[in-house]
Amino acid sequence: MSVADPRLGRPLAAPEKIFDAMFRPTGVDGVYGRSGAYEAVIEGLGALITGMRDERAEVVRFPPVVSRALIEKSGYLKSFPNLLGCVCALGGGERGIGAAVERFEAGGDWTETLEASDLVLAPAACYPVYPMAAKRGRVAKGGLIFDVASDCFRREPSKDIDRLQSFRMREFVFIGAPEDATAFREAWRARAPRIAETLGLSHRIEAANDPFFGRGGAMVGRIQLEQQLKFELVIPVRSVDKPTACMSFNCHRDHFGEVWGLRGEDGETMHTACVAFGMDRLAAALFAAHGPDIADWPAPVRTALSL
Ligand code: AMP
Ligand code: ZN
Repeated sequence: MSVADPRLGRPLAAPEKIFDAMFRPTGVDGVYGRSGAYEAVIEGLGALITGMRDERAEVVRFPPVVSRALIEKSGYLKSFPNLLGCVCALGGGERGIGAAVERFEAGGDWTETLEASDLVLAPAACYPVYPMAAKRGRVAKGGLIFDVASDCFRREPSKDIDRLQSFRMREFVFIGAPEDATAFREAWRARAPRIAETLGLSHRIEAANDPFFGRGGAMVGRIQLEQQLKFELVIPVRSVDKPTACMSFNCHRDHFGEVWGLRGEDGETMHTACVAFGMDRLAAALFAAHGPDIADWPAPVRTALSL
């Protein structure tokens, strides 16, 4: 028996009931074409988030690939090597490439001569913004705010409608003094639940940790949890009892400041913070709560999303 969502007073729509309204299968788990209705929801969500943006924010949209060197220097490889997707291309010049094609046509393995390129798939939207800001010189008092977004990739194949390999992330990022970075994160932790309220979704905020790789990683995760560096806004998508993280509120302390040499006017290392909106998870949460047919969604929700 399915449990009723406390806010809706009835169970969530089952994933198999909403999948067809949202996605078109591509033959790969967690990689889907998206329906027109689903994209209309994504656009409405985007506009709702834009409406809450700080007027100082600089807007940057990044492509779905990032420099490999940037990701290596950011520390991603140590923390989440299992999730990283790398762009490879055939090496060996015209001869080597021709030989690979011939191997494939003869039923062999063409991938043997793949070589890592200088690109990886973006694992989150905010990574490129820190070196970009550092190149501009010292950060003025009051700090910097960015509105960034990109298609993201994480190697976590799953049949769950809320765990994709290719998904979209929107983020507001702050770079500045330690107390201002904390205040930015706290302000968003207080403000973001309003989005879920407007959308008629059950929600709560929980302290969280990232899934750091390996045994050493578990320790890093415990410290992150203890020091309350990460919170998540969770919303029921597949289960009322085990709601899904749809937004995260992160303090990185001086990690990116140290890595990229982000300095304030007096030469002090800058702190950074970000709030991330998982666009596809928010859309999935809406379909799970309100059903496959947008025409049946509550009028205030449709109005809020311009649907
Ligand atoms: P994180 O950097 O892990 O805090 O991710 C930011 C947000 O991206 C999360 O709160 C989710 O909403 C979203 N997200 C992360 N991983 C996935 C995934 N595999 N599929 C869909 N959305 C995801
Ligand atoms: Zn971020």
